[in-house]
Amino acid sequence: MNDDRIRIPPQGGTAFPLAKGGKLSIVDPYGEQVCDLFCVDAVNLLDGLSSGRSIDYNDTIHFTNGHMLYSNAGKPLLKILSDTCGTHDFLVTPCSLQMFQMLNPECTYHPSCQENLAKALAQYDIPAHVITTTFNAFMNVPVGLGGAIRVLAPLSKPGDQIVFEAQRDLIVGLTACSDEGSNNGSCKPIEYAVARE
Ligand SMILES: [Zn+2]
Repeated sequence: MNDDRIRIPPQGGTAFPLAKGGKLSIVDPYGEQVCDLFCVDAVNLLDGLSSGRSIDYNDTIHFTNGHMLYSNAGKPLLKILSDTCGTHDFLVTPCSLQMFQMLNPECTYHPSCQENLAKALAQYDIPAHVITTTFNAFMNVPVGLGGAIRVLAPLSKPGDQIVFEAQRDLIVGLTACSDEGSNNGSCKPIEYAVARE
């Protein structure tokens, strides 16, 4: 699939249809870069990816090979076929201008995964309010014993990838995360490829 990789520039985002059975590879070309993924059922654009259902139905917050990602209505959306990194997050929402302004009240504008996903998915008539918790590939958010979470540098190495198989026709949005703090200080590109068996 390497020859067909498409690059998302730093702090960018995109959206595209992914047919049932299609395989989506997300690659971190340089390492330590997060990619936020959100998707919806292509025949019911308001039925989007659900972190809560996926955690409940997989009995884990640590997603890797073999796990299934579900929609809010409980429909299987994406199955994880392979994963060379093993550390991803499915707890937090995409970074947003509001989040950057909470961290820095002087911030007037900062690119964000929320904005990038909203713009990309709007091309498919998916309203921004449908976007909830994203599957944050390569994001490293350990949970402490008391329940506190921290956002640490991703553990992904250059070339690490996670591969999903679509379980139904989907519209998928992806970003190269815009938050320096989630990406060990620098925002880098993400690459992806789509293949059918
Ligand atoms: Zn982000």
